[in-house]
Amino acid sequence: MKKQPFVTKEKLEEITAQYPTPFHLYDEKGMRENVKALKEAFSWNPGFREYFAVKACPNPRLIQILMEYGCGCDCSSLTELMLAHAIDCKGENIMFSSNATPAEEFVYADELGAVINLDDITHIEFLEQAIGHIPETISCRFNPGGLFQISNDIMDNPGDAKYGMTEEQLFEAFRILKEKGAKRFGIHAFLASNTVTNEYYPMLAKILFELAVRLEKETGADICFINLSGGIGIPYRPEQEPNDIRVIGEGVRQVYEEVLTPAGMGDVAIFTELGRFMTGPYGCLVTKAIHEKHTYKEYIGCDACAVNLMRPAMYGAYHHITVAGKEEAVCDHKYDITGSLCENNDKFAIDRMLPEIQRGDLLVIHDTGAHGYAMGYNYNGKLKSAEILLKEDGSFELIRRAETPEDYFATLDCFPVYEKMFKKM
Ligand SMILES: *Cc1c(COP(=O)(O)O)cnc(C)c1O
Repeated sequence: MKKQPFVTKEKLEEITAQYPTPFHLYDEKGMRENVKALKEAFSWNPGFREYFAVKACPNPRLIQILMEYGCGCDCSSLTELMLAHAIDCKGENIMFSSNATPAEEFVYADELGAVINLDDITHIEFLEQAIGHIPETISCRFNPGGLFQISNDIMDNPGDAKYGMTEEQLFEAFRILKEKGAKRFGIHAFLASNTVTNEYYPMLAKILFELAVRLEKETGADICFINLSGGIGIPYRPEQEPNDIRVIGEGVRQVYEEVLTPAGMGDVAIFTELGRFMTGPYGCLVTKAIHEKHTYKEYIGCDACAVNLMRPAMYGAYHHITVAGKEEAVCDHKYDITGSLCENNDKFAIDRMLPEIQRGDLLVIHDTGAHGYAMGYNYNGKLKSAEILLKEDGSFELIRRAETPEDYFATLDCFPVYEKMFKKM
């Protein structure tokens, strides 16, 4: 399928007249339609709730849009909890799914009334010491080990992942937690990332539902929710077939009716912690081509770099690129699209066929709405970009300003010196 940006060249020119590139731009309309479709796909389950994985796109303005549809927040750090709190997401609207958790984060999560999802059996004692009790609602993360396969495709390698408890530990954890006063239980697992197949959630659901039936039978724990976590992917490449959330919801429903309903567990709520699926396609990184270079290869140097979008450098991830205004032009030029870091992996694309690019052209790097801005860093003293929301009526709003040198130097004791420098500048 041809990938088209959600924004036109004309609109981008309007935005760049006000805000300099690079910036991440978000598509309110696309985000709203998608969250509606997700809710609809799971409407058969009265307790269904999506806890948006805050780490994917920690912008409060965007999360508030999702909250309008009943979404909660999935947090895994102190500042993610603070962000949720700041936008009035609290109590059981927060899922705290963290690992190697510092004690003070458990304390804060408990103060907010978040549902705590324990990553390990040893965390029971750690949590009890940190907060002085065991919460009545508690969740445990499961890791089945081995390889996770769908048909003959290896989707991921849980046996090599640091997360979750073994089955034996999970049974033991439930017994201990029950003894210590926990009343409402949940289970959670995240077995494969960025899956572009409608089969992942139903397969995971089968594993977790069957486990839940045995857990309830053997430990007597009251299992109230099953958290399918994240992992539903998006088609980064044009040739990929997107997931169909209706098919996924229906697949999970069938397994639910097959496994949970006959076991008398037809009131269990289904939770998700989707990140990528919720915002990924509804963000793009807008950058300007500022240099062209002809050496052993053809290079286009742009004003964004890996600090704005780390996925290509970190995972060799593919992000589609459109040259604004040249959507229909023939892709007959082969380029490496680079940023300015002193790091040779700072390339958004390698040997990519694109239309001829002139200096000043705006490049739209697709699918940066999740794990895009959020993974940014400050290497080479590069500053993080702005985030802008393209609203349904075509207007746009700055939802995070770009970092300034003052922000960058703010953690240094010698900052006053820099402050004087700024005054002179
Ligand atoms: C990262 C993460 C998610 C979201 O993953 P996506 O691939 O973005 O859907 C959900 N839950 C937990 C615990 C995570 O670490």
